[in-house]
Amino acid sequence: MDAVLIILVIVFGLLIGSFLNVVIYRVPRKESIVLPASHCPRCDHELAARDNIPVVSYLIQRGQCRYCGEPISIQYPVVEAATALLGLIAYLTYGLPLEFALAVFFLLVLLTVSVIDIHHKIIPNVIVIPAIVIAAVSLLGLPLANLATPALVGASGWLNPAIGFLIGGGLLFLLAVLWPNGMGGGDIKLAALMGLFLGPYVIIALFLGFFFGSVGGVAAMGVLGKGRKDQIPFGPYLAAGAVLTLYAGLPVAQWYLRISGFA
Ligand SMILES: [Zn+2]
Repeated sequence: MDAVLIILVIVFGLLIGSFLNVVIYRVPRKESIVLPASHCPRCDHELAARDNIPVVSYLIQRGQCRYCGEPISIQYPVVEAATALLGLIAYLTYGLPLEFALAVFFLLVLLTVSVIDIHHKIIPNVIVIPAIVIAAVSLLGLPLANLATPALVGASGWLNPAIGFLIGGGLLFLLAVLWPNGMGGGDIKLAALMGLFLGPYVIIALFLGFFFGSVGGVAAMGVLGKGRKDQIPFGPYLAAGAVLTLYAGLPVAQWYLRISGFA
């Protein structure tokens, strides 16, 4: 029963995470995500099934290619473990109905575009536009209730997703017009997608995203010696704000209203 389902969610999460690694590596390079089979980027040796076991292969081979000893990025097992963890949290929150599937879809799109954004400073249209279409069709067409945490409105009817879409996309569009070098088109589309799922609560996600982004930006300038001119990927911060809002949006809002004296 529950324990079996939890194990299944984790195993499927790891496998999907393994696929996301392929997407993360190949989509920005405009390569097929189906062919050819995975191979080592250095020695080009095709990876056997036993080299492709999520997390486990990395640990057994101590982070190296079995054929040439090339270090393998820690990003691979991290993405696999993160995917399983996001799936598990979604399962524990929603159980296994449609809401679970949609929440997982949202979380994994956020994870994928974040890692791509860190590497390439882009949020690919081929991911975010289909995600918006899938989210819009699902949110409007499926009998969903209670998509986000109970207090979040997410998917109750078409109005909240529509409002969120307009707020998220609209606000970042406005910022992009005001500061053309700061925000990219990908960020605008990502915020619109977040609005579909979070409804008006997308404002909290954006607020958190900007907060994390300014902390991260200051840290990058201080620790990494990056200048103000260096482009800082904003997608991961928006995504972090969205995940936090999905699970803790209402407490965060109440806390903010309390410390700011509004409630
Ligand atoms: Zn190799």
